[in-house]
Amino acid sequence: MSNQLSDRINSVTPSATLEMAAKARQLRAEGKDIIGLSLGEPDFNTPDYIKNAAIQAVNDDYNAYTPVDGYVELKNAIITKFKRDNGLQYAAPQIVVSTGAKQSLYNVAQVVLNKGDEVILPCPYWVSYSDIVKLADGVPIEVPSSIESDFKMTPQQLEAAITPKTKMLWYSSPCNPSGSIYSKEELRALADVLKKHPQIIIVSDEIYEHINYGVTAHASMAEFPDMYDRTVTVNGVAKAFAMTGWRIGYIGAPAYIARACNKLQGQVTSGANCIAQRAVITALTESPTRIQYMVDEFKVRRKLILELLNNIDGFTCNEPEGAFYVFPDVTAYFGKTLNGTKIDNASDFAMYLLENANVATVTGDAFGNGNCIRISYAASEKEIREAVARIKAAL
Ligand SMILES: *Cc1c(COP(=O)(O)O)cnc(C)c1O
Repeated sequence: MSNQLSDRINSVTPSATLEMAAKARQLRAEGKDIIGLSLGEPDFNTPDYIKNAAIQAVNDDYNAYTPVDGYVELKNAIITKFKRDNGLQYAAPQIVVSTGAKQSLYNVAQVVLNKGDEVILPCPYWVSYSDIVKLADGVPIEVPSSIESDFKMTPQQLEAAITPKTKMLWYSSPCNPSGSIYSKEELRALADVLKKHPQIIIVSDEIYEHINYGVTAHASMAEFPDMYDRTVTVNGVAKAFAMTGWRIGYIGAPAYIARACNKLQGQVTSGANCIAQRAVITALTESPTRIQYMVDEFKVRRKLILELLNNIDGFTCNEPEGAFYVFPDVTAYFGKTLNGTKIDNASDFAMYLLENANVATVTGDAFGNGNCIRISYAASEKEIREAVARIKAAL
């Protein structure tokens, strides 16, 4: 029988970052020594004080279904965190805990978008945004940027992208993949455009909030009173707390959106994992200074990888202010033939590095920018040195 799958799933592109990781795993299984700089995952373990909270929760018999939108104690910890770190006031009905920030984003798309609604995605954007939008029958509208504007969207670009069909604006700050951070002033300038278009809901993905190297202070769109009622603030513990596999994310949102997300996940997951939720109460209640050692380490590696990459002809790097990626422009290589391989685009380039340098990176195409590749520096200093040396040799 021919393909009986839905048009919906056939329209989805597999996650490029997960695909690259799978390809790297396969090459490793064949005996190749691959350095993986493709995944967005800290190479630290979850801190002991958080692990101990989970062990305690198991022993305290937290094993039943939780409230669909999260334990009351966790929602309270999230409310306190939003106030402490972001100056945002949320009440319990505005908070929904989900199975990772990825599900938080998926929920919001499902409950807000109708067929044909347009979602503005400043490029480069996180790999899953466009497919999450498509799964909700929305239409991703990519707004290009380049290294010259530090990969940020200007208010003029935003204005020009808005049509009567625009329903949402989605962005991450700090940005995965560029590491760029919108300052409070830059967000205000975007808000001044959005103010004229009250139908637009804003999704502010702040999952890298704590991984900030101190150049630009973190700011939230919901801080502005005229944006608060139309902004969904998305956050999670995966990145800053080294808890990717625990799968806990959350939103602070207008109550009607939170209620709809709650209803949706009541039919889909029945809520997030109970033990992980208990551990996250501790993660969010303790001071963020307890995870600063990881941020300090990323900062050292960022400096190292920038120095090393800037030593390679043809790499043009921005200076990321947050997250743990560099997003070099590699257009200087397009049209060239290296080792008998023609490089026409960023995908060719990333594949060339995988096959000739044994280093896994991700093509910028996956993030809506075909001039760049994403390199994660959530790896040891030794791996970073070795990877960049191999890249240099292969080029
Ligand atoms: C990793 C990531 C997410 C997903 O986080 P999970 O909690 O692991 O689902 C969401 N947004 C961005 C920008 C990310 O990099």
